[in-house]
Amino acid sequence: MSHVDLHCHSTASDGSLSPTEVVQLAVDSGLSALALTDHDTIGGIAEAQAAAKAKGLDFLPGIEISCSRPAGTMHILGYGVDPTHPVLTEMTRQLLEGRNTRNPKIVAKLQELGVSITMAEVEAEAKGAVIGRPHIAAILVRKGYVKSVKHAFDEYLSDDTGKAYADKERLTSHQALSMIRQAGGLPVLAHPIQLRCENDAQLDTVVKNLVDQGLAGIEVYHSDHDASWIEKIEALASKYRLLRTGGSDFHGKSKKDIRLGNAGGKQVPRAFYDALLKALESRT
Ligand code: AMP
Ligand code: FE
Ligand code: FE
Ligand code: ZN
Repeated sequence: MSHVDLHCHSTASDGSLSPTEVVQLAVDSGLSALALTDHDTIGGIAEAQAAAKAKGLDFLPGIEISCSRPAGTMHILGYGVDPTHPVLTEMTRQLLEGRNTRNPKIVAKLQELGVSITMAEVEAEAKGAVIGRPHIAAILVRKGYVKSVKHAFDEYLSDDTGKAYADKERLTSHQALSMIRQAGGLPVLAHPIQLRCENDAQLDTVVKNLVDQGLAGIEVYHSDHDASWIEKIEALASKYRLLRTGGSDFHGKSKKDIRLGNAGGKQVPRAFYDALLKALESRT
């Protein structure tokens, strides 16, 4: 049966493969459709779209936006956004500004901790991509300050234990959902496990609030979701009549255990992609 991957990253953000290489890997992995969902940017979409067309792979433009949240991580995926829409351009400009303010703070904290690192090195590491903590982690590994990317996050970069952590200005979920819809897309809650809700009731409330703000779908299959999470999210999708999506969250070599097309041991059914496409078509 045909399957798809609706969540992955390229060198436009913190992935290690170019958009063309991700598309080629999708074809080689036997996928029939792909959505590229780089963090805070649509910089890889045009290249991926052209490569997908040339190789006969169905392709959906996407983006993954980090939203504000008191604890845990809230990422909203935007599927089918129009890359040329002025609202999208303005949104990505704001997101980039948030990163450009934060990244030097992390670097300064690292320097205070005795780590030899400069923004120029981080920029060189990112090679024009939207700069994320994984680029900083890669430098820490290369210079021998830590043994692995995971160790770099645990010791320096994570929001809970990282000694050099600095947060960035984020969009509220309300802003992100509204901007994605204005730009022609459908907003989907990514990897709900990462919200780190205290219990199921709290998770339900967060999802309900997002639904009230215009959420269209929820990521059921993801590399971090085990069988019990899949069951939990399936139930929420039914309760709030949300589209179901899924993806690996492939990043290439910065997350070596994750393979494109494999969402925590699950294959994402083609039907998820078809339903998403149908919902996008019926909006216009
Ligand atoms: P940023 O967008 O710059 O805040 O960086 C967030 C990205 O870092 C996430 O999307 C992941 O790709 C990566 N990341 C976050 N936490 C970890 C971790 N503990 N280990 C490895 N990568 C992580
Ligand atoms: Fe990432
Ligand atoms: Fe994410
Ligand atoms: Zn992601």
